[in-house]
Amino acid sequence: MRCPECSDMLFRKVVEEALHVCPNCQYHFRISARKRIEQLADPGSFEERYADVEPADPLRFVDKKAYKDRLKAEQRKTGNPDAVVCGKAFIKGRPIMMAVMDPEFMMGSMGSVVGEKITRTIEAAAEENLPLLVVSCSGGARMQESTLSLMQMAKTSAALARLDDAKQMFISLLADPTTGGVTASFAMLGDFIIAEPKALIGFAGPRTIWNTIKVELPDGFQRSEFLQEHGFVDFVVHRKDVRSEIARLVDFCAK
Ligand SMILES: [Zn+2]
Repeated sequence: MRCPECSDMLFRKVVEEALHVCPNCQYHFRISARKRIEQLADPGSFEERYADVEPADPLRFVDKKAYKDRLKAEQRKTGNPDAVVCGKAFIKGRPIMMAVMDPEFMMGSMGSVVGEKITRTIEAAAEENLPLLVVSCSGGARMQESTLSLMQMAKTSAALARLDDAKQMFISLLADPTTGGVTASFAMLGDFIIAEPKALIGFAGPRTIWNTIKVELPDGFQRSEFLQEHGFVDFVVHRKDVRSEIARLVDFCAK
């Protein structure tokens, strides 16, 4: 395979062994939710929850393709009902509730199922008194669900406010890309916000911003490192160090 960053030709096996990071330039490849869980959780510790929550198509939305057919094709491709996988796991022996978004399912877009499953995961963290980890990797709200998709921003944020009242910690891990309604809701509400190196993180894209306020954006705008410099991200962490970093934060803060 070819690295999109440094154009090196790489053996797939070598990249996989390096947690899907280019051994030459450290480019972090996008990975599916299942792959991410495999990398993060202690082997065999992940217990999936809410796997039976299936998407509906109440608006009977049709763009280039009927939403109903699009969903079927994405489900067949990924083996998942929608764009998030949730459950309880252990990370270096520490129990944690986690929700992991799947960039391979409609670019990780947030519709009703993503919002509902993330909300249930947040509520479970509060009820069972466990720290929460959400891995964001998303193009934003799912336009095929219109307002039903947008209301997930308020719903997940409200659930996080209740988690905060319960004095439980929330670690938000941002992967490339984290944009739109996901950035504008739970992704930026973490007690700790960790980003993968060079991840695209933002609300609207540079072109939309230019069209709106006619300002040229500085170099590296909306990348992890720039956002850390400006206080939106706490840590930029290499994929190989994320497990240790989460364990450290849990030891430091969790009840
Ligand atoms: Zn590379």
